[in-house]
Amino acid sequence: MAGPARGNILISTEECKGCGLCVESCPPECLELLPELNAYGVHPARYTGDGCTGCGICFYCCPEPGAITVYRLSPPFKPIVEGDSHAAAL
Ligand code: SF4
Ligand code: SF4
Repeated sequence: MAGPARGNILISTEECKGCGLCVESCPPECLELLPELNAYGVHPARYTGDGCTGCGICFYCCPEPGAITVYRLSPPFKPIVEGDSHAAAL
């Protein structure tokens, strides 16, 4: 990937139903399904940690409210920390 990530996402492992829509829809292909099962007995999605642009497509295609939070990072781009004032959630 060229340049720093412009976005970051958090996925709630326990809200995710493992449908895989976010994985299929992510343009830079930076999401995947975990090999482990969650409490629903499905493989939840996770961010690989690299390449998110903050486009929000995964957020809009996810059928589970609250499963995905997308952050658009403002310069200087850096990994988010919960409550970071430089990160704006969709
Ligand atoms: S915000 Fe866009 S680039 Fe980032 S994980 Fe979601 S679909 Fe992929
Ligand atoms: S679209 Fe939502 S419910 Fe489906 S795998 Fe992704 S985070 Fe989980």
